[in-house]
Amino acid sequence: MKKTPFVTKEQLEKIVEQYPTPFHLYDEKGIRENIKALKEAFAWNRGYKEYFAVKATPNPFLIGILREYGCGCDCASYSELLLSEAMGIGGRDIMFSSNDTPAQEFVYADRLGAIINLDDISHIDCLEKAIGKIPEVISCRYNPGGLFQISNDIMDNPGDAKYGMTTDQMFEAFQILKEKGAKEFGIHAFLASNTVTNAYYPMLAKVLFELAVRLKKETGVHIGFINLSGGIGIPYRPEQEANDIRVIGEEVRKVYEEVLVPEGMGDVAIYTELGRFMMGPYGHLVTKAIHEKHTHKDYIGVDACAVNLMRPAMYGAYHHITVMGKEEEPCTCKYDVTGSLCENNDKFAIDRMLPKVETGDFLVIHDTGAHGYSMGYNYNGKLKSAEVLLKTDGTTELIRRAETPADYFATLDLFPIGEKLCKK
Ligand SMILES: *Cc1c(COP(=O)(O)O)cnc(C)c1O
Repeated sequence: MKKTPFVTKEQLEKIVEQYPTPFHLYDEKGIRENIKALKEAFAWNRGYKEYFAVKATPNPFLIGILREYGCGCDCASYSELLLSEAMGIGGRDIMFSSNDTPAQEFVYADRLGAIINLDDISHIDCLEKAIGKIPEVISCRYNPGGLFQISNDIMDNPGDAKYGMTTDQMFEAFQILKEKGAKEFGIHAFLASNTVTNAYYPMLAKVLFELAVRLKKETGVHIGFINLSGGIGIPYRPEQEANDIRVIGEEVRKVYEEVLVPEGMGDVAIYTELGRFMMGPYGHLVTKAIHEKHTHKDYIGVDACAVNLMRPAMYGAYHHITVMGKEEEPCTCKYDVTGSLCENNDKFAIDRMLPKVETGDFLVIHDTGAHGYSMGYNYNGKLKSAEVLLKTDGTTELIRRAETPADYFATLDLFPIGEKLCKK
């Protein structure tokens, strides 16, 4: 499908008068419509809850929108817990799905009353040592190993992933946790990332539901929830077809009724921890072409760089680019679209066919709403951008200011750079 920005050129020209490029722009309307559709898709399940993966877009204003629809937070670090606490989120509204977890993070998660999802069987001891008990509600992360595939189509390679416990370890862990006083159990698994197929969640659900039945039968525990985690993807490429969340919800329901209900497990709550699906399509990185260079290849240099969006540099990920105002022009030029880092992988696109770009053109880089801003770093001393919310009424709100040199140097207090210099 043709990818169209959620702002027009005219709208954007007004916005850039107020906020200098580059910045991430988020679409409140899209975020709201999507969460509503997700909730409807799983409305058949009484306990259903989405825990937004905070790492995807750790902005309290955006998470605040999801909160209105009853979403919790999925956290995996101290700072993510802290952000949740600052937003007044606690108790069972936090899922702590960490791995390689430092003891003090277990302590903090427990203090907040979060549901703790253990990544490894050895973490039972770590947790008990850290907090002096085993919580009544506990979850374990599962990794069946092997390849995760639908017929011949390999979705991902759990056997090569660092996360989760083996099947045997799940049984052993549940037994141990039960003996130590846990009352309500959860099962979690994240077996494939960015799946652009309606088949992933139903397949995962079948694996987890069948495991849940066996765990219940063999260990006698009460399974309170099954967490399908993240992994529902988005169509980064125009030729990809978007997932249909209604179909996904309905297919998961069928598996639920097939596997869980006959076993008297029709009270199991379904949880999700979606990040990319919740925010990805509703973010644009807005940047301006500032240079045109013709050497062995043709380059467009923009004022954003991998600091603002790392996915292309990190995974060679495709992000669609629209040259604003030239949507209908033929894509006759082949460009590398680059940032300014001294790092040759700082390219938003390689050999991308685009309309002829002039210096001063605004480019929208699509699908940066998740794992975009948050993944950024500060290489070359480049600063992280602002985040701006395009509200439902068409107005904008600054929801994070851009970094300043003073922010960048803030941790160098042993060698103060000086306020005066930073203000230059
Ligand atoms: C990253 C992550 C998610 C979210 O993944 P998406 O691909 O953004 O949906 C959910 N749960 C855990 C444990 C994660 O690490």
